[in-house]
Order: sequence, then structure tokens, then C-alpha cells
Amino acid sequence: HPPDSQLFDRDPAPSPVATVRVLVPLPTERPYSYAVPEGMTVVPGSIVQVPLGPRQVAGIVWDGDGDEVDPKKLRPITQVFDCPPLAESMRRFIDWVAEYTISPPGLVARMALRAPAAFDPEPWIEGLRLTGAVPERLTAARRRVLDTAEDAPSWSRLGLVHAAGVSASVVDGLIGAGAFERVRMPPPPVVAAPDVSYGRAELSGEQGEAASRLADAVANDGFSVTLLEGVTGSGKTEVYFEAVAKALEKGRQVLILLPEIALTQSFLDRFHARFGAPPAEWHSDIAPRTRERIWRQVTEGRVRVVAGARSALFLPFENLGLVIVDEEHDPAYKQEERIIYHARDMAVVRGSLSDFPVILASATPSIESRVNASSGRYAHVRLSGRYAEAALPDLGLVDMRRSPPPRGRFISPVLTTAIGETIARGEQALLFLNRRGYAPLTLCRVCGHRFECPNCSTWLVDHRLRGQLQCHHCGYSTPRPEACPECGTLDHLVACGPGVERVAEEMLELFPDARTILLSSDLPGGTRRLRRELEAIAEGDADIVVGTQLVAKGHHFPKMTLVGAVDADLGLQNGDPRAAERTFQLLHQVTGRAGRSGRASRGLIQTFQPEHPVMQAIASGDPELFYAREIAERQRSGLPPFGRLASLIVSAGSRREAEEQARALRQAAPTVEGIEVLGPAEAPLALLRGRYRFRLLCQAPRKAPLQAYLRAMIRQAPRPRGSVDVAIDVDPQSF
Ligand code: ADP
Ligand code: ZN
Repeated sequence: HPPDSQLFDRDPAPSPVATVRVLVPLPTERPYSYAVPEGMTVVPGSIVQVPLGPRQVAGIVWDGDGDEVDPKKLRPITQVFDCPPLAESMRRFIDWVAEYTISPPGLVARMALRAPAAFDPEPWIEGLRLTGAVPERLTAARRRVLDTAEDAPSWSRLGLVHAAGVSASVVDGLIGAGAFERVRMPPPPVVAAPDVSYGRAELSGEQGEAASRLADAVANDGFSVTLLEGVTGSGKTEVYFEAVAKALEKGRQVLILLPEIALTQSFLDRFHARFGAPPAEWHSDIAPRTRERIWRQVTEGRVRVVAGARSALFLPFENLGLVIVDEEHDPAYKQEERIIYHARDMAVVRGSLSDFPVILASATPSIESRVNASSGRYAHVRLSGRYAEAALPDLGLVDMRRSPPPRGRFISPVLTTAIGETIARGEQALLFLNRRGYAPLTLCRVCGHRFECPNCSTWLVDHRLRGQLQCHHCGYSTPRPEACPECGTLDHLVACGPGVERVAEEMLELFPDARTILLSSDLPGGTRRLRRELEAIAEGDADIVVGTQLVAKGHHFPKMTLVGAVDADLGLQNGDPRAAERTFQLLHQVTGRAGRSGRASRGLIQTFQPEHPVMQAIASGDPELFYAREIAERQRSGLPPFGRLASLIVSAGSRREAEEQARALRQAAPTVEGIEVLGPAEAPLALLRGRYRFRLLCQAPRKAPLQAYLRAMIRQAPRPRGSVDVAIDVDPQSF
């Protein structure tokens, strides 16, 4: 246990210090000092309410004494919430994240306090307790209620009705007969307790070995990181569930991080099947009231397992003992706003500060994790084959230069034939294209006018189902006009390039009798509709699925035997050094949707560059080919993880202001051997949401004091004025 996880239980010794420091959830660099009123006891980590200007805010009592100010001049703490204090390891985590990401600690703390109403205890509810009196009339139903009631000290009326399987009138009758008395009891848990032996799977030999290595890491206590690598469908989830079981047996809480959790109903169902109860979910779609209850019960240790999006990492667990980062390579783990952090990396930090194991799972690990595994810093546990009779799909490249689609179409004859054969067998085909809408560009055939976003340096995307042209960056949209706004010519606007809507249209034309489902995050109906459609696909109620990267992740579609990547080169086109890695991961994931239940399956990848190393690695089915080459390339050029990077994005309402500030920062850069500052140059999106953006890139050796360097730069440059803003991204994902 971390040293002070018992704090809440211990009666804190009255502090001789009359002032304490309180970290408030605002962009302040340091905690503020407050006086502790007579008779109030606080300990480091206590959640308190303090006055701040005219307001009252919640804050966390931080470490160290308050400033040497006359306590009489300090404002007093208003109240201490009846809430478990944040553990010391959690406070160090907040400090660490703030230091590493160069963010105000108060804003990091805010992520831990995202449920204000939960600082007060949940109100107790009215419950029932056996009195011991036995009523005269004892029916079988009444006896069942009395027997059931023995299992717990108190019951809610409805809970007892359900558990005994009787009608409410039976319970009411027993209350009337004096068999129960009314008592106050704590509110019911948000989720039932998991049962570690509920639905234990029969593991294969290889799975069993992997599971026992993970379970050992948990049993041994202490910090460790294990990379669990195995092809899609190899059973990584089943395997890491055994580590979850081990941690639960030890009385510890578990956090499972998932990308895009709102869409992983299948994961929740599997967890339920394994542990007899669902995990608590934590993501932005959870209703505020439920969030508050989960937050509270996590801090009290009553919620044992949380499955959450990246922000769940900042929940103040009472007794966290294991974090699993599933699909650890997924870009969704990077938060790009406010506090810019990578949840996978911060999960490792959390584990090291609290001394517990971390498991990273993926079929296509990030280059970072792969390098850490081969250097021995992380343990490496591998699953080599798919579970049971499922075989990996047979993968092939379609050279679009040799097998071009007919004019105005995007699916090559080879892929079209394969789709026809697949649906004729009663199986499903998936067409993957990572581009929402109908077409990425609309132009006027007469004058060449291109429709661009007025707020961003990007084209407007044609969303034909909505009849609109939309910007994917700022949300700007405008009805699709019939005449060119530039030259006024009617009916000469053309859509250039494919989006998923257009591919779906092509399918409707080619296979009018097939059931085609279009899956994209921006269709009306939102998450609910997506969940429903994913279920329909899994149940076989679709022949052809056209989708964005939404369909690439984690889903299990038993009847899917063909996957076609429509425009596999798409991600390779930008100049980003991580483009190859991303494309490899995405293509591997999406082709992995095929053949999950034993039928022979295929993946066809349409590309204009079949000789590209990523395409070769995908077609060969040998990931080593990709990793070896990519790792060597990163090492040669000193890119992460062999060197460190940080990007500074300077933005402002005027181009001149942004550029001036960027130049000033560049001039303020200290001279340190090995650290190089590139730029300023226009950022990849030079105009975003009406703000002009310039970028500086710092490249440093792995051991260089990058944070100190960046802080010095910021300190020495003139303070940004007016609309100017500087965002620092340490370890940028695209660079
Ligand atoms: P991965 O996470 O590696 O893609 P999963 O854990 O999702 O793999 O497993 C793929 C499929 O195989 C799932 O439907 C899962 O239920 C099934 N499966 C894997 N291992 C077992 C096992 N030992 N017993 C029963 N089913 C299993
Ligand atoms: Zn825009």
C-alpha cells in the first residue's frame, strides 16, 4: 500500500500549523495559503472549500506549510468536505504531470476534482433490517424473504424484493408483521462487486502462460510495465482479465483504459460475462449524477473496477493496484487540449509513483513501447496466434495503377469481384476509408474555385446526406450551393475524391440488393445509433459495411470475411514522421476485423504505392518487417523514443502577432549543447478556428532536460499579450 492510503481511517493529529497551502483548480502556478480555523482539522490531501476573491471554490490541501504571513491576514478555510483525502501518491502524480507537461498544477488538479457534488457524502437511504421477530403466518414466499435477508445486515426494500424473487407485497406484509425495522443505510453501490471466479475462461496453453506472467506481476507487487502483444483475436482481453482477477483478490482497485469507450459495449458485456457484474464506466457520455456517484465510490474504494477513457487516470482511487491500457497505440490516448498529455505514458508514471504494475495491450504496439520492450525496460508477453480455429485473413495488395476503378469510381474491379463473391456466400464485407462525408474537396469546373473554410486553412468537406459543406476542424458549415460563388455558373460544381458516403453510394449502385450500412461518427443519431448498428452488423443484419476508423477498433463481427481498404495511402500523404506507424497500425487493425470465427477470410488493400515498406509489411503479414525498419529509421534520425521532441504552437487573432511571439520565443531559446530549435514556421493548420498559428519544434537528446529548457524559453521571452497564446506539447504525436 502507498504509505498514506490509510490516512482517511486514521484520526489525524491536530496540526500545530495554523496555515496550510491549498491548491485550487485554476491556472495558478502555486497553491495559496489559508488559515485553518480553531477546531478544524485538515491533513494533506483534504478536500476543502476556500474563499477566492468573491467566490468559494473547492481545493486540495497541499503539502508544505503556508507562507510566512500573519495568519490573521489570511482568509480561513470555509469547510472541510467529508470526503477521503487524496493520497500522497495521487498528489505527487498531479505535481508530476504538471511539471512534465509544463501546465499549472491547479489545472491538473481540476481533472481529479471533476465531480463537485460528490465531495459531500451521498445521502443515506431508508433500508430494512431483520428484527429477529418471526411472524405467526409463515408462507414459503415469506420464508424465502427471511432467508435471503440473512445475507446482509440491511437491505433496500426493492433490493430485497429482487433478491428474494417475490412481490413487493410479501416484503410489505413482513414489515407490517414486525419482522423488519426501518434503518438508515448507505446508498447502494453504482455497480455490483465483481466476482473473480464467476466466468473464468478456459485458456489455451499459450494464453495460460501469458496470463500467469501477468498475474505474477500483480502478485509480486511493486511497479512493473508489461507489454502484452498479440494479433487481433488472440485473446489479449481474456488474458489480462486474469491479472484483473488477481488484483481484485488482493483487495486492490483496477483501472482499464480504453480508447473510445462509449462504443465498446462488447467490452462491457465481456467483462460482465467474466466477473458477473459490469465495471463502472467513466467517459464524457456518463450523466452528471452517475459521474458524481462513481467518483465518490471510487474514492471510497467501493467501486472496484473502472473502465474508462483517458480522463479516468485522474480519478482519486482509494487503493488502485493495476492499470491496463488496452489498444495502447491508439491516438485517442493523447489529449490535445488544455493539459496536453498522453494517457498511456501517464499511466506508467502513475504506476511508478504508486508502485503497482501497468499492462499495455496491443496487436500493433507503439514504437515507443516496442523499443522499451526490446531494451528490457518493459516485460514483453506475446500471443502468437488467433484463438481456436480462427485464422488470420489472407492479405493482398491491389495496385491501383494496374487495376484502376472505372472513371468516377473508387473500388477496383478486383475488390468489386471479391465483394460480390463474399455477399453471395452470405458473408459480410467491410470497406474502410478514413474519411467522413462524401468528398474532401468541391471545386468549380469552370473557374477552378475551391470551397475553403473561412476560419481554417482547410477545404470544406461535402456532406451530402446533410446537404452541407463542413469544416472538420471548427464545425463551420454552409448549405451546398448550386452555383459557384466565384463565377456564378450553375451546376458545374464537382466533388473530388472519395469519402465514406460516396463509397456507400457506389456500393448501392453496384449491389442494389445488398444491405449496405454506412458507419460514421457524424451521422444523425450519435452514439446510440452507432451502438445499434454495430450490434446489427455483429448479428449478421448487413451485407456490406462502409465505415471510417470507427469500425477498425475491437469489434467482433463473426460473419465478416472480407475487408477492403479503399485508400490505404491516405495517411501516408502528410509529411508526418509518424505517418508510417499510424498507417501500419490502422491497416492491421482494420484487416483484423476479418475472419474472427474460423471462416477463410481476405483483406485487400488498394494502394498506389505497393512498394512502400508499410504496404509490404502489411501484405507479408509480418509485423517485424515494419518494426525493425521503423525503429532503425527513428534511431538514425534521433526521433522519439531515441530523442525527445516538444512543439510550441503560438496562436493569435492576427498573423503578425502570432509570428512575432514565435520569433521572440525562438530568440529566448537558451543555447544548450544538443538541443535544437526549429522554426518558427507556419503550423500544419496555419489558420485554425480563426487563429493564426506558428510552430517551433524543439529536438533534444533523450536525457536532455527538456522541461527546464522550455521553461527557460518561456520565462525569457516577453509575456504573450492580447490574443496571443502559447501551447506546449511535450512528446507531440504528430510532428
Ligand atoms: P484480442 O483482444 O487479442 O483481439 P479477444 O480477447 O477479443 O482478442 O479474443 C478474441 C475472441 O476469441 C473473443 O470473442 C474471445 O471471447 C474469444 N476467446 C479468446 N480466448 C478465449 C478463450 N480462452 N476461451 C473462450 N473464448 C476465447
Ligand atoms: Zn474551419
